[in-house]
Amino acid sequence: MRKKLAELVAGKGITDKNVLRAIETVPRHFFMDNAFLRFAYDDKAFPIGAGQTISQPYTVAFQTQLLELKKGDKVLEIGTGSGYQCAVLCECGAKVYSIERQKLLYDKTRQLLPQMGYQPNLFYGDGYKGLPAFAPFDKIIVTCGATFIPEALVDQLKPGGRMVIPVGEADVQTMTLIIKKTDGSTVTETFGHFKFVPMLGEREWKG
Ligand code: SAH
Repeated sequence: MRKKLAELVAGKGITDKNVLRAIETVPRHFFMDNAFLRFAYDDKAFPIGAGQTISQPYTVAFQTQLLELKKGDKVLEIGTGSGYQCAVLCECGAKVYSIERQKLLYDKTRQLLPQMGYQPNLFYGDGYKGLPAFAPFDKIIVTCGATFIPEALVDQLKPGGRMVIPVGEADVQTMTLIIKKTDGSTVTETFGHFKFVPMLGEREWKG
């Protein structure tokens, strides 16, 4: 089923061999709620509790491919969620730092990933702030929809680094790639529309 999923994602245009190998390797059913287990290898997003979703495999592959990961890259992920995207990054050889703002999901995923043999650094906190104490990062991936590009995250990107973030006002976002050049200036490219759960600010989730 994993092999079929990797083939499906390749058929939709993913060419990065490492990304396809990761999709073929990571057992997505470990990250799903029991009620949806039999759909684990469908190319769809599903609820994971706390009003959040596990991203669609194609979206995970698309964002990961845009990062152009090299083995040993230090990667910051915003929105750990189920941990599936995090596991895909680990499989690609990245050293992952991931932030989640939902305590329930943070606690669950913090248990699951080490049990599966993945060793990312997981944090409970506000992704808008990033992780200044661990910056700079080679790559940054945001897995929730932001209404703007957080300045703090761009600041925490290394010169030569890449950041992938879905940006949009409503419930549809434009996949946006920000490349920080060696002189510190940035260039932005966009890659079509995707649907993510919203990236929420402190006020929205602490009430
Ligand atoms: N990468 C995840 C996707 C989960 S959905 C996976 O593969 O399953 C996006 C996640 O972003 C949700 O879990 C949500 O709680 C989290 N999120 C939303 N706003 C956030 C913020 N400001 N900081 C950190 N995480 C946030």
